[in-house]
Amino acid sequence: MLDNTQVERLEAEAVNSAKIRQPLYAPRKKIFPKRASGSFRSFKWLVMAITLGIYYLTPWLRWDRGPFAPDQAVLIDLANRRFYFFFIEIWPQEFYYVAGLLVMAGIGLFLITSTVGRAWCGYTCPQTVWVDLFLVVERAIEGDRNARMKLDAGPWTARKLALRVSKHAIWLIIAVATGGAWIFYFADAPTLIGEVFTGTAAPVAYITIAVLTATTYTFGGLMREQVCTYMCPWPRIQAAMLDENSLTVTYNDWRGEPRSRHAKKVQAAGQPVGDCVDCNACVAVCPMGIDIRDGQQLECITCALCIDACDSVMDKLGKERGLISYATLSDYNANMAVATAGGSCSVNPSLVRTDGGAFSDKLAHFHLRKIFRLRTFIYMGAWSAIGLALVYSLLTRDRLEVNVLHDRNPQFVTLSDGSIRNGYTVKLLNMIPEPRTIVVTMQGLQGAEMSVVGVDLPADRSFAVAAEPDRLKTLKVFVRQPADQVGSATQTFKFRVEDKASFETDEYTATFNAPEIAR
Ligand code: SF4
Ligand code: SF4
Repeated sequence: MLDNTQVERLEAEAVNSAKIRQPLYAPRKKIFPKRASGSFRSFKWLVMAITLGIYYLTPWLRWDRGPFAPDQAVLIDLANRRFYFFFIEIWPQEFYYVAGLLVMAGIGLFLITSTVGRAWCGYTCPQTVWVDLFLVVERAIEGDRNARMKLDAGPWTARKLALRVSKHAIWLIIAVATGGAWIFYFADAPTLIGEVFTGTAAPVAYITIAVLTATTYTFGGLMREQVCTYMCPWPRIQAAMLDENSLTVTYNDWRGEPRSRHAKKVQAAGQPVGDCVDCNACVAVCPMGIDIRDGQQLECITCALCIDACDSVMDKLGKERGLISYATLSDYNANMAVATAGGSCSVNPSLVRTDGGAFSDKLAHFHLRKIFRLRTFIYMGAWSAIGLALVYSLLTRDRLEVNVLHDRNPQFVTLSDGSIRNGYTVKLLNMIPEPRTIVVTMQGLQGAEMSVVGVDLPADRSFAVAAEPDRLKTLKVFVRQPADQVGSATQTFKFRVEDKASFETDEYTATFNAPEIAR
């Protein structure tokens, strides 16, 4: 076990905080985050591997939809206006599913933020994940914090040049791979990768790769924390979603202050001393360049690396972990009240401990049930209701549809025998990746018959038509009713479509117009 004075003190100070935030156009102060290790860092590695794996590998997953549909599991087929997601196929008129998913994502973000703060920012935001990835490369090539700072401050030598060129080259490769992976979501990936390398892909593919390469390299490698601090609106919005029961990364100054590296001397002088040994380990690992001991800050993405850093210091000192921890404001305030004797003195950490040195029973601790409050129930309820509605709608939706447009001009034609004819454009949507025969039948409109332009069949009240897989079929249909059968100037009847094999049906109620004189 180490003594306070034996804990290494790092020369690190916050370069970013509300007090010293730079003007927007000031040169960036470089941050050299030290490598952290601990449970949160391990969790972040896992999340990083999963999210990057999903992003890069998803376009290569195959999904057999038969011979008439693409076999890419996730595909945004802009040319044919389809979105494929494993067994789900979304047509343009079903875009409300995508809208529903976006609404769910929004409510999910509210739910996560109101419970565990900016977990999205700290763990899964693409900016965080790619900056982490770029930092892995930087550390592997240039070394950890001290080595990088030394290299940065040193003169340009052959070694420095080689290291910098290597780092930026690998960053560019990652950036190109990131842009490249994106385009594979919009076309058959194995085909497109061949076209990209042979120079035969569409120009838009190369433009997309170039734009995403530039943005990934700039945001992930060069701008890093500036994107979160200055460009992203989420840090501003999220403050409105937190409440006193939301978990945030907190420096528990009720046990940490007064901080000192010389605890024994201070105690010998009869002064109170807290658990913080002012080693700056929490500052050195922070990718945002802040000091969490300054309190809650807009810059903090709650990545929890400072928790790992401080926990390892507390382990070395033989003290309880959690000097920096996930805590709610209400627990923090309650514990501050204990440490300050209800606000009557400055923080005295001896007030939060018993004579034996253990933590007092009066201290508040986070409990899972605090997450389940009215607000989170409302978010969960709304999120689940939309999700269930989408699932129900997906499972019961029709894959055969008919839409009909009545000719606008003329509304009707009186034929030489006195009968009345109306024209319609009938659209049959076969939304499955298989060919099928669809029977179109008229219901109502006494004595009327229909004929299809281009189909050499006698007029009838029903006809069968072959529909191509996963396609829209458009038919020009004329409906004729004898003069003596016309009931009124406007009558309604139904076009009914049916797939005799699957028994799927759909109907459309159309109008049949006739002149007053015909009656
Ligand atoms: S203060 Fe801690 S939690 Fe916040 S960004 Fe820095 S290291 Fe992450
Ligand atoms: S909070 Fe922890 S890591 Fe930060 S300076 Fe104090 S003891 Fe060191």
